[in-house]
Amino acid sequence: MKAFAATELYFNEAADRLGLPDWLRTLLLAAKREVTVQVACEMDDGTIRTFMGYRVQHDNSRGPMKGGLRYHPSVDLDEVRALASLMTWKTAVVDLPYGGAKGGIAVDPKKLSRKEVERLTRSFVDQIHDIIGPDTDIPAPDMGTGFAEMSWIRNQWEKYHGFNPAVITGKPVEEYGAKGREEATGRGVGIIASKMLKRIGIRPDQCRVAIQGFGNVGSHAAKYMSESAFPIVAVSDVSGCYYAPDGLNIQDVLRYTLANKGSLEGYEHATKLPADDLLTLDCDLLIPAALGGVITEDNVDRVKAKMIIEGANGPIWPEADRKLKERNVTIVPDILANAGGVTVSYFEWVQNRQHYRWSLDRVRQELDHTLSDAFEQVWQEAQRSQVGLRTAAFMVAIRRVQRATELAGFVS
Ligand code: GLU
Repeated sequence: MKAFAATELYFNEAADRLGLPDWLRTLLLAAKREVTVQVACEMDDGTIRTFMGYRVQHDNSRGPMKGGLRYHPSVDLDEVRALASLMTWKTAVVDLPYGGAKGGIAVDPKKLSRKEVERLTRSFVDQIHDIIGPDTDIPAPDMGTGFAEMSWIRNQWEKYHGFNPAVITGKPVEEYGAKGREEATGRGVGIIASKMLKRIGIRPDQCRVAIQGFGNVGSHAAKYMSESAFPIVAVSDVSGCYYAPDGLNIQDVLRYTLANKGSLEGYEHATKLPADDLLTLDCDLLIPAALGGVITEDNVDRVKAKMIIEGANGPIWPEADRKLKERNVTIVPDILANAGGVTVSYFEWVQNRQHYRWSLDRVRQELDHTLSDAFEQVWQEAQRSQVGLRTAAFMVAIRRVQRATELAGFVS
């Protein structure tokens, strides 16, 4: 199954529950606008290469469209389309005044020099500058992009349109970025985990956690959760899975990766296993926080966790999702679980527009409020409608988008 078909399926399950009229279903399934561009870029050796770039703008009934830019070889229109639609539901479920969009370039940035990535990024902005903007569509980091790309995008966009840092979020703190944006997605995963355990009635110290991926999301989730007394029994990255049944010393792991270019490779205070073993380890809570589509029909029967929080976007294929549901595994879906990032992006945008800076404490407090409220609403919806948290999250989100669409004048 392709990424968009999976999102469509989840959407339709919730739309059926809500009895969404057909015209609205059609309107909300397809994107408003899909832009594909050829991005030409001069390499360091003087040759010219071209890459495919995308920006899909899914829906703007609740506000300007919002969503990251991904640099990864697997980026294609189908994936970006799915991710753009997920952003509409993500911003709606946490009630941010935004719609959804996503974009990216099919490229492996690790195979380019930093200068080449900069030229590629600027060339991409040359192609899409007139469809993004602080009131229309606000990009942000995603897989393969970060502070540097956001700075180049802002700088290149401002050459056309003049000073306006709110055109993009996820900027460095020294350049109109928000304190706490970098940690926000991982921290949000941790906040959601704490709320879920409270609801289920388990203490954090009784919940053994395994986290797949030790990038921005996984490492910050591990930090926040270990500070909140969760034993983290395993973490992994492409180099392998690092397992300690009594709990890893996360401070030590973080110090190690900081000194080791972000990689876990060579970490010695744990048992090393093949990277994929992380998903099927004996643990209570599994957090896939790396790529999409990692829990499939092939490995789902070996997944032992009773709870899963989707740190990454789309890590569970629908066939696997169905089997997990049959086994009563509690799954917190991506659109809620990893919404911390876009929530602090919103705080950044608000600060930019007001020319005012918030303290880190304020960012963290407001993030906690926003995610706790959203989790509670989704939990209540799940109880009321007797559905899983994924369908409940989609129901809460679709209802908000439906209301905004109708208020704007499309009344059935
Ligand atoms: N790329 C992130 C996501 O998938 C953040 C988007 C944003 O901050 O706009 O949620």
